[in-house]
Amino acid sequence: MFPDVRLHIAGEWRGGGSRQTMPILNPATGETLSQLAVATREDLDAALAAAERGFKAWRTVSAFERSKVLRKAADLLRSRADEIARIMTLEQGKPLAEAKGEVLGGADTMDWFAEEGRRAYGRVIPARAEGVLQLVIREPVGPVAAFTPWNFPINQAVRKVSAALCTGCSVILKGPEDTPASCAALVQALLDAGIPGDALGLVFGDPAEISSYLIPHPVIRKMSFTGSTAIGKELAALAGRHMKRATMELGGHAPAIVFGDADVAKAVQVLGANKFRNAGQVCVAPTRFLVHDSVFDRFVDGFVGFSRELKVGDGLEQGVRMGPLAHGRRIEAMEAFVADAEEKGAQLRTGGKRIGNQGNFFEPTVFTDVPLEARIMNEEPFGPIAAIQRFSDDEEAFAEANRLPYGLAAYAYTRSAETATKLATRVESGMMSINHHGIALPETPFGGVKDSGYGSEGGTEAIEGYLNTKFVTQAGF
Ligand code: NAD
Repeated sequence: MFPDVRLHIAGEWRGGGSRQTMPILNPATGETLSQLAVATREDLDAALAAAERGFKAWRTVSAFERSKVLRKAADLLRSRADEIARIMTLEQGKPLAEAKGEVLGGADTMDWFAEEGRRAYGRVIPARAEGVLQLVIREPVGPVAAFTPWNFPINQAVRKVSAALCTGCSVILKGPEDTPASCAALVQALLDAGIPGDALGLVFGDPAEISSYLIPHPVIRKMSFTGSTAIGKELAALAGRHMKRATMELGGHAPAIVFGDADVAKAVQVLGANKFRNAGQVCVAPTRFLVHDSVFDRFVDGFVGFSRELKVGDGLEQGVRMGPLAHGRRIEAMEAFVADAEEKGAQLRTGGKRIGNQGNFFEPTVFTDVPLEARIMNEEPFGPIAAIQRFSDDEEAFAEANRLPYGLAAYAYTRSAETATKLATRVESGMMSINHHGIALPETPFGGVKDSGYGSEGGTEAIEGYLNTKFVTQAGF
């Protein structure tokens, strides 16, 4: 049985009435799994009123107590991991093992923020006059509106919600309409652990209607968005117009540079696994492969072989490594990228087509020698397409890595310490992973530069976005 998904507002799960619903589809079969309640304006007003009350109450709970509640939620999530993973695979498509890893990773994220919230220290600045105390106090920023997408229904939400709650903020989460049930299960675990109903709302509906109402609303003090750069720029402008704090985790088009001295076999395995994880619908997926001439043929042969061997199918089936794309829009997007690349003269090495006519399955696809004008070299593919280019001079690779306005993740394989140092200092990206895939742990910073956004969703940096700094100076009577 797949659950109907409701809205969580002011401590109750709301559905029915005159509310519209949206179908929740299984991307592997096209079947309707259940229905999702759509928020009305009254629902949003009720959620805002709850967030205002929730903030007043939750901020007075000690950091120590808040931490205990978050840790309990993490334990609940772990104990429900099998059940929630199944829901996630059914609605999102990713293989069951990936879904379970995401749920367990969500619990780790909660644990991290539970601890970090206890360390949101201020400081004391030595004063110029005797008897004066100069204090820097960290305060929760206030009610937060968080907007999260469908590619990681738990991981994207848990980072924002945990960072907000651990500091004493309340949150209205606008969850992903394509994959709402696993996100709702996350919210349920938090509520069951003791997060007050007013402090955590969950709404779904028309994303543009909801964001344009919540972001400017005076109750909301901060917004956080994960999604495309185009929408992120609109929402950042809206937040700016209303002087709201913002964290923006946007698109990427990660360069993956394989130098002539690289361990090519390792590069093929690690980059291949991360290219096709979650069917490529990952903002930090390696997408522009830049490979030195001297190892180009070896890398391409290995990578094409890796891609052909991937078992594509329903994520619930044993042994499946890549599921369907999460919704039909991505199939259309992949077909357009492929047609454009072929028209511009790229060489298709494998894949390139939809698989069957039921479900959103697409072949793992590899292009080489793609002209720079091809869309795939400029727009985030967000799907199972890899574009492999060759370079002969290392400077060409650095130039290509920095050519685009994106700057989220970057990857490289080299045995040279000198090259690794150049990579660390010269590539314009928020994250750089050299000789392995080490991105997106709760304790490490996660975020982009340039058009990929600003702010961090991991590490100690992540809670900065949820804190105000207040300076208090105090003299004796
Ligand atoms: P889309 O751009 O319409 O939506 C992307 C996400 O933003 C969705 O979760 C959607 O609900 C949300 N969204 C859209 N308009 C919004 C608005 N006005 N206010 C608030 N939220 C809004 O496209 P899509 O077809 O759902 O996804 C495709 C593109 O989105 C991809 O090309 C990719 O670049 C981007 N995306 C990025 C991430 C990420 O992790 N950074 C995740 C999902 C999608």
